[in-house]
Amino acid sequence: MTATVIAIDGPAGSGKSTTARAVAQRLGLAHLDSGALYRAATLAALDGAAEITGTAVLALAKSLPVRLNLTASGFRPEIAGVDVSAEIRTDRVTQRVSEVAALPELRVWVNQALRSAAAMHPRGVVMDGRDIGTVVFPDAIIKVFLIADGEERARRRLLQMGRSTDAGSVRRTADDMAERDRKDSSRAVAPLTQAAGAVLLDTTDLAFEEQVDRVVAMGRKVFS
Ligand code: C5P
Repeated sequence: MTATVIAIDGPAGSGKSTTARAVAQRLGLAHLDSGALYRAATLAALDGAAEITGTAVLALAKSLPVRLNLTASGFRPEIAGVDVSAEIRTDRVTQRVSEVAALPELRVWVNQALRSAAAMHPRGVVMDGRDIGTVVFPDAIIKVFLIADGEERARRRLLQMGRSTDAGSVRRTADDMAERDRKDSSRAVAPLTQAAGAVLLDTTDLAFEEQVDRVVAMGRKVFS
């Protein structure tokens, strides 16, 4: 079965996941956050004290297993059957995830998992990540590349996490995000880049509802 996919890619903190979730809800699709699988593999590697090599992380991810489980509320990241939605957002995972996501062997396995997860959904999915429109679903029916100013992305992320948005915190978070973007954009396999045919959406000056409306409007042409 071929999956119907809206692909939303972009740098860290560009609002991909929150946008994808809202778009999916409005169009009656499932939301799949591909970064959650890379984060869960990273958490498994850190907790399992695994060497960060493709062979070691892949073997661990397969054996535990690390997976996305389709529940009534969407795809949930699990390690050995345990919901790890909260743990994968911690700083220690965020700091190491780009290193793990650069492992080619792991990416092949994640891509297969993403494609079979999407195929399980009868209507379609809104999938967000870094390489959904370029590599995982190059034939996605709609592709969006979401960007926003670095400090604005940092401010939104801090607000989302309930943290202070003083100038120092914004600068530090923006620096961390820029470093993660640099690693994600410069890796050899599936680097972060705008896909051919992707609509570029700069959300710096858009209200959240506006950015969701723009993608929903594209989706309505396909999903009636
Ligand atoms: O989307 P999020 O920021 O949670 O993703 C965490 C990390 O997972 C990214 O920084 C990137 O290294 C990796 N990732 C990826 N390809 C994807 C999704 C995420 O390499 N499709």
